[in-house]
Amino acid sequence: MIKTNPTLFFVDGEAPGAPGLKGSHCKACKQTVLLQVAACPRCGNRELDSVCIGQRATLGQSSEVFHSADGFEAPYFIGQIETEQGPRTFAPIAAAPGTKLEVGMPLRFELFDRPDGRVGFAYAPAEGIA
Ligand SMILES: [Zn+2]
Repeated sequence: MIKTNPTLFFVDGEAPGAPGLKGSHCKACKQTVLLQVAACPRCGNRELDSVCIGQRATLGQSSEVFHSADGFEAPYFIGQIETEQGPRTFAPIAAAPGTKLEVGMPLRFELFDRPDGRVGFAYAPAEGIA
């Protein structure tokens, strides 16, 4: 399996709670940050646990994109998301073209197979999903 961005996310079985985004949890100040970092950006501590985060997230600002890029067929959505653990990032949003996305909308992490054979991820509206 080839991931679109191996530094960014876990697939099933790679970490407890996967699939989801890669994160680090500081053993000293308990801060959780995106990605696997060598030192805590808040306190500088170098003892961090690798954690899987962002299984669920909340949508911030988003916009519909009308140009295809890097395997994403336009139109698609890109949005600012806030993970349930706190860190924020931008992520593709898996919603049908023309969908009205709203700030505060609950999202869930989803893996999907890209046409080029790689595995990518997006956040999908979580409404109506247990
Ligand atoms: Zn820290």
